[in-house]
Amino acid sequence: MNAAVSDAFGETLAEDAPDVSIAEVLVILGRHYGLTGSARPLPGERDHNFHIQTESEGEFVLKVSHPAEEAGFTDFQNKALDHIMTVDPALPVPSVRKSLEGEAQFMVSVGGSAPRVVRLVTYLPGQLLSRSPTSAAQDRNLGIFLARLGRALRGFFHPAAGSDLLWDIRKVAKTRPMLAYIADARHRAMVERVIDAFEQHAAPVIPGLRAQIVHNDMNSYNVVMDASRPEMVSGILDFGDMIHSPLICDLAIGAVYRWPAEGHPLAPAARFVAGYQSVQPLEIEELGILFHLIRARLALIANIASWQAERFPAKRDYVLRLITEVWASLERLDGLSSAEARRYFLDHSKPEQMPVSQPSPASASADAERALLERRARLLGPTYRAFYRNPIHLVRGSGVWLYDAQGRKFLDAYNNVASVGHCHPRVVEALSGQAATLNTHTRYLSEIILDYAEKLLGTLPSHLGHAMFTCTGSEANDLAIRIAQHSSGGTGVIITDFAYHGATIATAQLSPAAVGAKGVPAHHRAVAAPDTFRDGGRAARDFARNVAAAIDDMRAQNIRPAALLLDSAFSSDGIFFPDGSVIREAADHVRKAGGIVIADEVQSGFGRLGQGMWGFANYGLEPDIVTLGKPIGDGHPMGAVIVRPQLVSSFGSNTGYFNTFGGNPVAAAIGIAVLEVIEGEGLIENARNVGAYTGALLRALQSRHGMIADVRHNGLYFGVELTAEDGATAAAKTSSVVEAMREDGVLISSCGPRGNVLKIRPPLPFSRDNAEQLAETLDRALSKW
Ligand code: PMP
Repeated sequence: MNAAVSDAFGETLAEDAPDVSIAEVLVILGRHYGLTGSARPLPGERDHNFHIQTESEGEFVLKVSHPAEEAGFTDFQNKALDHIMTVDPALPVPSVRKSLEGEAQFMVSVGGSAPRVVRLVTYLPGQLLSRSPTSAAQDRNLGIFLARLGRALRGFFHPAAGSDLLWDIRKVAKTRPMLAYIADARHRAMVERVIDAFEQHAAPVIPGLRAQIVHNDMNSYNVVMDASRPEMVSGILDFGDMIHSPLICDLAIGAVYRWPAEGHPLAPAARFVAGYQSVQPLEIEELGILFHLIRARLALIANIASWQAERFPAKRDYVLRLITEVWASLERLDGLSSAEARRYFLDHSKPEQMPVSQPSPASASADAERALLERRARLLGPTYRAFYRNPIHLVRGSGVWLYDAQGRKFLDAYNNVASVGHCHPRVVEALSGQAATLNTHTRYLSEIILDYAEKLLGTLPSHLGHAMFTCTGSEANDLAIRIAQHSSGGTGVIITDFAYHGATIATAQLSPAAVGAKGVPAHHRAVAAPDTFRDGGRAARDFARNVAAAIDDMRAQNIRPAALLLDSAFSSDGIFFPDGSVIREAADHVRKAGGIVIADEVQSGFGRLGQGMWGFANYGLEPDIVTLGKPIGDGHPMGAVIVRPQLVSSFGSNTGYFNTFGGNPVAAAIGIAVLEVIEGEGLIENARNVGAYTGALLRALQSRHGMIADVRHNGLYFGVELTAEDGATAAAKTSSVVEAMREDGVLISSCGPRGNVLKIRPPLPFSRDNAEQLAETLDRALSKW
């Protein structure tokens, strides 16, 4: 081998370290750690590593560094592991066991060599990824794991992070002289092409990318998987290649080892990237060069391994252990253009439909769940209820999926709050970007709140000219009632008899679903909800007449009507979509009596009903005030009141309005992102189409299950009313169905005054596949009776 090559590649890698004997290891263990046990050597490239079984403290790995390794570099690793433990304690990485002197590392002379750094770290049990069967879930979980590791390291720095490292993808061109060691001319030409392409397409982009300290070596010998569940990551080893590098290089390295078995050569890598993006979204420039980085890493392995094999014949088998896969991968990727690869990643690495997540060791057992429930009761008091007999401990959400602490995946067919999908990357990015820039309140001038108000008002009828911002739907309804009472001079509000409108005093008093009929004060009136099913839909037909009668009744008691307040989906009443004419007629009665009409769109707004943005529009109603909440912020505390300008002119001058957090710049950024996602992803259309498909599937179940009395829906909002031979048990059976679905991996709930209506309102990106899973699961749940 030529001398120039050896100099360029560094002594640490080139020279084999003198052996360390088991006897020496056991002496170190006793003298420096006060531990006794047995030791056996583990394979390693530079360090000498030993598996240690102690008699008192379990398993460890004793690491004796190469004599040329600087103590600063191992200090870097120790501190990085400490940092990870602080930021993400549930992330399984080795932890450093200090010596009797309290040191994370120390120097000893072993094997007759110069002093070498010794460290003891905990052993991570499991099966090496290289020996574990592969699966799509495994690809994604590895991506999630690496992203978590990256996030845990992003606030960390150490001076050794700038060291020159042979395994630095950015420096692949420096290994060109190693091409001479590749025996096969075709292989050699292929690697050369990869390096040329890297220099042309990736190298110019790299200096502009975000960089941090990264693990830099997620190869299949450095990751351990759960032996009984090989898709679950048990830990990552060997932090010896960490450097400060573009974040995307870390991902490219991990992606290399997702060897394609069949299908598209980038399919496993794309799943890996999707997993990564569910935790840490990538930037377009990063995705743009990923293909080149993956190939550059393969070229690096090919070059270095070919060189090492010749230089260290005794280690030939070890250094060439992956070479067959490397050539196969390079060949398969050689057939792809860079544009095709870029497109493939853009199309196939979206963080959707993610299966199993990482288990959090602290919460994996039933005991831990019980402890959580007890702690919850002790700290939060008796008013909080948990869904389901067997409550769910959720740790992550993505799109229509939720994941519990054991890694179980649930199809979310209930949460309309995360309406554009759980943790939508665009919303998360808008939130974090604005939170990192400025967050004040509405008393300073700011464009973003105006941009948001303009965009939001643009989705509503033009007579509604002002937007006022709150933090919740309750606050929105509370403010709407204040405005209604102020502008009309009246006090009485008409609601439906099992409505829910909020949790403030004023709105709770208008929420018989929460406070009961007796909790509604004497100046308000609760009328029968427009039930389209019972008694052949009589209450729906009579709705306007009932409102008129309530007004007469108020008047008879000298109460001036202020407003009619209606949830456009009549959610807690049991989910009804009556004919628009009765709603319009009821509104006319109220207006004639001097009151105004408030459309509560907290449940029905933002495209859920599939016809347009707003539920009231389905009735042909022109409300005076529209109140918004839940889906407005994809899970973030936001609400709004949209109002006819003339209604607030005197309220504004007499009272004014300020809400510390409502409409702040972060909320505005989120609100804009939500509207853009609804539009950009065609979610209203999706609600309409998938809603119709789901409705048909649910109705088809009706012929198989006599228990289904009625299926009603609009877009992606469904009420499935269940009966029982004995009416009194319908609620219990409904609840059992909800519980059975939960056990079977689909989340729904129930509603209605009799508790016998299945309430189904999934996030809007719900797909036909999701609909089929929902219907099949419901079919199974109903078959139990
Ligand atoms: N209106 C309706 C129709 C609702 O369903 C709710 C909440 N369930 C509210 C208002 C109150 O919203 P929040 O919980 O955000 O205060």
